[in-house]
Amino acid sequence: MSTPRKIITSFYTVLILVWGLGTPVFSQEKAYARSVIKALTSPAFKGRGYVEKGDKTASAFIAAAFKKSGLLPLNKGSYYQDFNLPVNTFPGKVEVKLNGQLLVTAKDYLVGASSPAVHGHFKVIPVRRQDISTDQELNALVLKAKDAFILLDDRPLEKESAEAQRSISANVRALKTSENLNFKGLIIFTKEKLTWTTLTYQTIRPVITINKADLDPASIHQIDVNVDVKFIPEYQTRNVCGMIRGSSGTDSTIVISAHFDHLGLLGKKVYFPGANDNASGVAMLLSFVKHFAKQQPKYNTIFLAFSGEEIGILGSKAYVENPLTDLSKIRFMVNFDLAGTGEEGIKVVNGTVFRKEFDRLVQLNDQYKLVPKVEIRGEACKSDHCRFYEKGVPSFFIYTQGGIQAYHDIYDREETLPLTEFDHYFELMVRFFNSF
Ligand SMILES: [Zn+2]
Repeated sequence: MSTPRKIITSFYTVLILVWGLGTPVFSQEKAYARSVIKALTSPAFKGRGYVEKGDKTASAFIAAAFKKSGLLPLNKGSYYQDFNLPVNTFPGKVEVKLNGQLLVTAKDYLVGASSPAVHGHFKVIPVRRQDISTDQELNALVLKAKDAFILLDDRPLEKESAEAQRSISANVRALKTSENLNFKGLIIFTKEKLTWTTLTYQTIRPVITINKADLDPASIHQIDVNVDVKFIPEYQTRNVCGMIRGSSGTDSTIVISAHFDHLGLLGKKVYFPGANDNASGVAMLLSFVKHFAKQQPKYNTIFLAFSGEEIGILGSKAYVENPLTDLSKIRFMVNFDLAGTGEEGIKVVNGTVFRKEFDRLVQLNDQYKLVPKVEIRGEACKSDHCRFYEKGVPSFFIYTQGGIQAYHDIYDREETLPLTEFDHYFELMVRFFNSF
């Protein structure tokens, strides 16, 4: 089928205009970003963890996007870089009843990420913080609780002295993990927001954290608990790695990264969608993929989507231990983790370390009036840039600020992720990458 002449003509007109302006073209990225985030946070991706192959589904989705844009696979013809990690998973039943009343998983309570499996009906012994301020009190309590759960009301009733706070905190830690104490399990009743994680190890006893305003912890005397846990010593997961060749013909590289993993499943029904953390960063990464596939960058540009970030920044660790290109050739790396808001601008980790690049970013933002604020921060080993930085790679980790409060919970959802400054943020970063 032939293309009508008129369309060809206007296509060239646009092309000539673009060349004539000599500036990059910015399409509206937000709609694409939203579609990526929608996919990654959908139930089929299982919270992008290590149960029911959430990580494999997510990495395959990203590799398909790399392929569609024509990226070069970085690992001997493959986009994937396999590595192993240990992980404590919750693939089966997760059910808790207090005094016969069923609690709602991840809304009312969380099971500690390092908990072992536990099944059965147990007596509950409720205590307050001030009941465990000395070692004697702790030991007497544990003796009573040999076949029971201890329920600690962790809300301080009165102001605790610094000394009391120290000894109570030490005893709470012991209740959670000490292998010298012998009892069935710990329930912590808190007013703090429930925040989950994922861990590479298992501890001695189950810990269940409850935040439920209409529940009186002193009234709890029994628990029915059904928690299936599977510890996997060597789970094989994978990073996704691709490249676009630059026009300069040198071997200098720019690296753009984001982790795609999140916390996965807590039982069969509950998953953590991780829209802001970090489907939004992956959406940013894939937006750069599309952009630079159409507008060739000056330097070779490497796109890395990491697994294993939430469990201890292990995907980027695996990468720097077996780098697919020479780390010393990296001119600059920017890692995107939390990219979905921006009401209060962006924060740049390592801004004080790479001051020249930070100042350039601020200057670009002032010139083009993009995000509300570009704030500086020092070192912080909180995301994947850190593994590269430790190897001497100049790098930023940037995150958006403001907007939603959801973080490592079931409320970090696509439906409530604003993407307020996404287009501006994207444009700022393209201008920044083009400034090298
Ligand atoms: Zn993250």
